[in-house]
Amino acid sequence: MSIIERNTTPHFIRSIIEEDRAANKYGARVHTRFPPEPNGYLHIGHAKSICLNFGLAGEYEGGLCNLRFDDTNPSKEDLEYVESIKEDVRWLGFDWGDRLYYASDYFEQLYQCAVQLIRLGAAYVCDLSPEEVRENRGTLNAPGIDSPYRNRSVEENLDLFERMRSGAFEDGSRTLRAKIDMASPNINMRDPVMYRILRAAHHRTGDSWCIYPMYDFTHCISDSLEGITHSICTLEFEDHRPLYDWFLDALTLYHPQQIEFARLNLSYTVMSKRKLLELVEQGHVSGWDDPRMPTISGMRRRGYTPQAIRTFCERIGVAKRNSTVDSALLEHCVREDLNRITPRVMAVLNPLRVVIDNYPEHEEEHLDAINNPEDAGMGTRTIPFSKVLYIERDDFREDPPKQFFRLAPGREVRLRYAYYITCERVVKDDRTGEIVELHCRYDPNTRGGDSPDRRKVKATLHWVSELHALQAEVRLYDKLFTRADVTAEKDGEDYRDFLNPDSLRIVSSCRVEPSLAAARPGDRFQFERLGYFCVDSKDSSAGKPVFNLTVNLRDTWAKIEKSLGS
Ligand code: ATP
Ligand code: MG
Repeated sequence: MSIIERNTTPHFIRSIIEEDRAANKYGARVHTRFPPEPNGYLHIGHAKSICLNFGLAGEYEGGLCNLRFDDTNPSKEDLEYVESIKEDVRWLGFDWGDRLYYASDYFEQLYQCAVQLIRLGAAYVCDLSPEEVRENRGTLNAPGIDSPYRNRSVEENLDLFERMRSGAFEDGSRTLRAKIDMASPNINMRDPVMYRILRAAHHRTGDSWCIYPMYDFTHCISDSLEGITHSICTLEFEDHRPLYDWFLDALTLYHPQQIEFARLNLSYTVMSKRKLLELVEQGHVSGWDDPRMPTISGMRRRGYTPQAIRTFCERIGVAKRNSTVDSALLEHCVREDLNRITPRVMAVLNPLRVVIDNYPEHEEEHLDAINNPEDAGMGTRTIPFSKVLYIERDDFREDPPKQFFRLAPGREVRLRYAYYITCERVVKDDRTGEIVELHCRYDPNTRGGDSPDRRKVKATLHWVSELHALQAEVRLYDKLFTRADVTAEKDGEDYRDFLNPDSLRIVSSCRVEPSLAAARPGDRFQFERLGYFCVDSKDSSAGKPVFNLTVNLRDTWAKIEKSLGS
């Protein structure tokens, strides 16, 4: 178990563990698990569960956390998901050691547990169809109706269950049910289904089984077999806890404790795997790792760091009540981490050509620039300067409004790390009237960006040298949805109605400083005055770099958008 950072914020789950340890419950052991179903990619909600389970285990001497695939639903599961989940957990910084498990590894043991429950008179084969089972279940106010098959003899049940396993019956024609109480106020206790018949190839067990155990039956036994102490799950399982306890007690097995916490909801996005799958399958995004997705792979591709995600999961805390966290908090954590670790570079998204009339033709200089003002250890680099440059089109106004302090005719500004320049002439396209080029004069005495006579300028602009700059594609991302509470769909509404049509804008003719030629997929940078960007891990190549906007600097989204003249 790698201990990353100690999270000591008090919360109720930590208190339960502390009390259990003080009472020497489970021999003071702490053993948790993260149990994803491999039916989709992990998202930021899973990250919360991962940080909680692996994080808590990491806090205690000898604490362990297992990774267990809850793979009991072969029709929706896939090896691609298994691999992506392992990659994501590792990338977040957690290590399951040699404790990678699959519920499907326990299929034989689960079958034997079911047989034991039949022998105890606590389970029966039921011939009702899934619809009939549902109809007989009753409602919150009305008790259910006993199945006519409820009182079959142990012998008959054993025989039928064995034949279910050996493929004697049609899919869906019979189930194995726990014999609990059809009048229980808790609907989960009304003879829940333990096994169903399903002829579907499983990604691990192939065609060896045509009956599959249900989640509630599988989960508690898997926890028990692995010696889990604290089985942490989300709030919707609170009503399933009596069933978790019932199975383990009936089987007199080692009994972990289930503890529920509120799932994470994040504004402006969805967290349901079904919806995320729809977005992928219907082409609303480019894949599970589309940088706009709330998936871990999407956030990785976008440039989020594991540290930022872990910090976020720590700050949101652990509660017993469902709530929605503002996505601005996640962005804040990302910014905070990137500010610390990323080198600054200059990139111009929407270039405007600037000719320095009094700068010698064919001359070039290399000016010193600081890589990260937050971290002197990151050193310096040089940036080439020459007669023709690009600045951001938005940094110039021919007729500047009052509060606009950047470049304008007759006005002097500083070019970052370079010189003071003054705009002397504006060249326009005769036909369209569009500004095509500025002619400026530079002051050779201001090299490095300071003037010996201490004269002040009100703006410092980023720039690149035309001769040296690289062309790059930049992908600007905004929120995937326009509504904070996407899932509060009223009648006739669908969450897809709120997809943000401007969530991706591709800017193809950006110019970036030449040091970025060495950037590798996944590398992260701060583009000065614009935001944090990273090299796209799929579509970027040495000749044609592609950068993803990770997060803007503050709320520069509006500014970036404006600079593109929308
Ligand atoms: P499904 O809707 O398919 O059941 P799920 O989101 O519950 O999806 P699982 O693969 O079963 O997905 O989740 C694995 C673990 O992650 C579970 O313990 C689950 O409780 C936890 N988890 C899932 N979503 C969230 C969330 N939004 N916040 C916190 N934990 C979550
Ligand atoms: Mg689930």
